Amino acid sequence: MRSNNNKQKYWLLVFLSSFAFIAGCAPTYNPARGEQQWIVFSREEEIAIGQLAAEEVRAEFEICEERSQYLTRIGRKVAFVSSNIALPYSFQVIKEEEMNAFALPGGPVFMTSGLFDELDDDELAVILGHEIAHITARHGVERLQTHQLRQAFLLGAMVSGGEVGRMAYFAATALSIIMMGYSQEEELWTDRQGVKYAHRAGFDPWAKVRVLEMFREEERQKGLSRRWLSTHPPTAERIKLLKEYLTASKFDF
Ligand SMILES: [Zn+2]
Repeated sequence: MRSNNNKQKYWLLVFLSSFAFIAGCAPTYNPARGEQQWIVFSREEEIAIGQLAAEEVRAEFEICEERSQYLTRIGRKVAFVSSNIALPYSFQVIKEEEMNAFALPGGPVFMTSGLFDELDDDELAVILGHEIAHITARHGVERLQTHQLRQAFLLGAMVSGGEVGRMAYFAATALSIIMMGYSQEEELWTDRQGVKYAHRAGFDPWAKVRVLEMFREEERQKGLSRRWLSTHPPTAERIKLLKEYLTASKFDF
């Protein structure tokens, strides 16, 4: 068993490694959010983490090729009018009944076939707009960074795996964190940003209200799952706030 003295040294090291983790970067302006953002990961690291995590998804699920091509055509239109058009976006449909969509850091977007099969083009565009908005806001790496600091685990990960091991560790961690979902505030912001992107690309922003109403109906029929409850604001609240936003904005965004 460790002595008290060793424990103190351990926590000192953890503290110093956390400090080193944040000391290496300066805040940069994020146009999607209209504010300075403090992200320790470089853009290249963010993209590498997202690509590695996407490989894990592709290893786990079957990719529906034709549906993915269709989704890509719509996704490119929306990404092209987003706040960051330079990222390597990709859009893939995975064979899975549960209705879901998610974005990984730096570009990859996935949608389940269960959701894809229910949506028309406008509805696909607003869902993709929402996921692209998570990417442009850098929500994934921001959450990963918060998690890292909380865990103060960086030193161990760096020593044990080198650069390759470190990125693989971040990718696996990012994937599990993203699947847990974002905060309610982040989701509501992303709903608004997502309809903006879809509208700029020529799609109907009110389609998002229709999709959320479909989700609410599904929740009523199936009963809310714990995961859904914990990761998203109540759907009725999202619908109410989005309707208010769309009405007030008069699409002037
Ligand atoms: Zn979201």
